[in-house]
Formats: sequence, structure tokens, C-alpha cells
Amino acid sequence: MDFNVPISENKVTDNFRIVSALPTIQHCLKSGAKIIIMSHLGRPGGKVVPELSLISVGELLADLLEMPIKFSDDCISEDSHDVTLGLRSGEIHLLENLRFHPEEDKNEKDFSSKLAKHGEVYINDAFGTAHRAHASNNGVTKYFLNKGMGLLFERELDYLSKRITKPKKPLTVILGGAKIDTKLDLINHFISSADNILIGGGMAFTFLLARGIDVGNSLVDLNMLNNAKKILNRARGKINLLFPEDFICAQSIDDNKNAKVYDVNHIPSSTCGFDIGPSTIDIFSKIISNSGTIFWNGPMGVFEVDGFHHGTQKLASLIADETEKDVITITGGGDSVAAIKKFGYLDQFSHVSSGGGASLELLVGNNLPSIYALEL
Ligand code: AMP
Repeated sequence: MDFNVPISENKVTDNFRIVSALPTIQHCLKSGAKIIIMSHLGRPGGKVVPELSLISVGELLADLLEMPIKFSDDCISEDSHDVTLGLRSGEIHLLENLRFHPEEDKNEKDFSSKLAKHGEVYINDAFGTAHRAHASNNGVTKYFLNKGMGLLFERELDYLSKRITKPKKPLTVILGGAKIDTKLDLINHFISSADNILIGGGMAFTFLLARGIDVGNSLVDLNMLNNAKKILNRARGKINLLFPEDFICAQSIDDNKNAKVYDVNHIPSSTCGFDIGPSTIDIFSKIISNSGTIFWNGPMGVFEVDGFHHGTQKLASLIADETEKDVITITGGGDSVAAIKKFGYLDQFSHVSSGGGASLELLVGNNLPSIYALEL
């Protein structure tokens, strides 16, 4: 499982990944399995870091399933193997953070074989780590004759691979957020396969600057300027690549009370754009309502701050409306999920991906080492 969830003061602060994993666990419980769950949490660097213990995950899981859960504080100790041996049908045994051992990331053979001693059937439902070749999702598989993917993993492949490579047309891709470098591969990939690409968020300004527009003090990544120019050139005449026509601007992020709408060609030099403006929402909404498949990654503005949240909230609500009309609506990536959760649309998308890096790799058509390991 991918139970790599945010934790603060020994409490899970976002249960999305755990809730997403429940169908597979419930299926195994109903089938009378004895379930041993392994996961990593954070980056403890191969040593025990108490703040990154899976205990609080186990507590939440026990609450969600309304049953007790056994826990071992070392995933490969003799004691942990004894707990596994003593399990009865319908019981769950959660192992402590795999990354408390450095061998997990190194995909070490001996560690993999000790993990494998916990079970007879191996199910990988940790989609969030699918782009990594670690012991628990790669090395371990060769010790199992019976292995496969879980229900969440299968669903992720269905939406992020099948339905994106053979989409119900037109395919609209909406990208936002602050970091342009993490989305370059996506843009390059979708230039050849999408019908529309709509770009908002902080990353839009690097493209606008590349087009010679004065973006004031808005966020730009000068290292990405050349890449942005190349993308603009490649996209010309090939695809409908749209940028915001107006922005909600302010002197600083704390100055939200004095924010004003400016046309993209008249952003005052002392201000920053923190959200897309009403004309942009109008233009984007027309494209959204004429799409067969919509993929969205990255907020349209600083949605965490009141006053700069409208663009992201409005787009979330427009896309959620399309789901009702049988349009395939998909979102993924940490901040997009946080945003639609904040605005209450989590259940109103066809699919909300539980993976960050893994979903990006899958979307651009790269092979995932943990899928390959299941096929061996
Ligand atoms: P990313 O991780 O690249 O998807 O970026 C997500 C972050 O981008 C969120 O925390 C937003 O607050 C931030 N963001 C979105 N639009 C802007 C903007 N116009 N200026 C600065 N930050 C932004």
C-alpha cells in the first residue's frame, strides 16, 4: 500500500490515500485472507525516525475498518514474522515503515526475501511508488508465484493510461501550479495528443514572458524560458494552447484585500498575478464544456489564500459539472487533489489519482518498474 500520508502531531492530516486503498483491503477481508500490509512513510533515510512511524496510520485504518489491527515495529524482525504466522483469516497485520531500513530503497535482495516471508500471495496497490524500483514493490515480487495488482492500481492504469491514450475526444489538458519544470514532460507529451491545453497558475508567466509580455513581479522561472519558447514554437498551428487573458494581481500575497483584475497586457510592474481573472475563466469554461475527456493538474492560482482561490474553485466546479454529463474527468498531483478537496469536489471527478510522480510518468507513457516486476 502507499500509506505515505501527511502526519502532524501523531495524527494523519489527509486520509485520501488510505481511503483510496480500502476497496482492495475490503476485498481481501471478504475473501477470508490474512492481510499483511507494508508501506513507506516519508524519507527517514534508512533509520528509525519516530515521527515517521506508521502507528498513526494503523490507528486511522482501524477506525475506518472498525476492527483492531496488529502492528509490528520492525518490518523484517523475527517477532514480526511470528505475528504474521499467528494471523487468522480476516485479520490485518501492519508492518512499520519500510524505509526505516536502508535496504528498502536499495532494492536489496536479502531484505526483499525477508519481506516475502510474510505472505503467500503478493498484491501491489501502492500506485504512488510505482515509478520506483524498491524492495517492497520490485525485488520482492520474484519470491511469489501468485502476484498481481490491487483495485486502486488497476483503476489508476485504466484512467491515466487507457482513457488518456484513447480518449473520448476532444481531450482537454489543464495545467497550473508554480513549478513549470515538473510539468514540461506533460506539456511536450500532450502537444502531440491533446486537442486543447489550457495553462494557468504561476507557470503561465514564464510562457507569457517568453512571448514578450511584461508580467510585472509575477513568478517566473528564467531557467525555463528557453524551454517555454521551444514549446510555444512546437505548439504553433498544431494544438489549441491557451494562456490566461487576465489575472487577479496584488503587490504581495498578503495584500489580497487590495487585489485587482488586470488584462494580461497591462499587468502593473509592481504587482504579481496570483489567480486567473474572470475573462480567462469564461474562455476556459467554454473549452471545458466542449470536451469529452478532461485532465487537470495544478491549481490556477494561490488557492490556499482567500481572494486568490476563485479561479481554481470555479474550474473545479465546472469540471465537476461535466462529470455529470458523462465527460471523463481526471485529476492528480498533490496540490490539485488538495484544492478539489478544499472546495468539496473530491467525489465529483471520474477519477482522482493517488499518485504524484507515478501518475506523471504513466501519463507521458513511461514504463513503471513495479508493473514490470509483476509481469516477471
Ligand atoms: P505545483 O507544485 O507546481 O503544482 O504548485 C502548486 C502551488 O502553486 C500551489 O501551492 C499554489 O499556491 C501555487 N501557485 C499557483 N498559482 C500561483 C501564482 N500565480 N503565483 C504563485 N504561486 C502560485
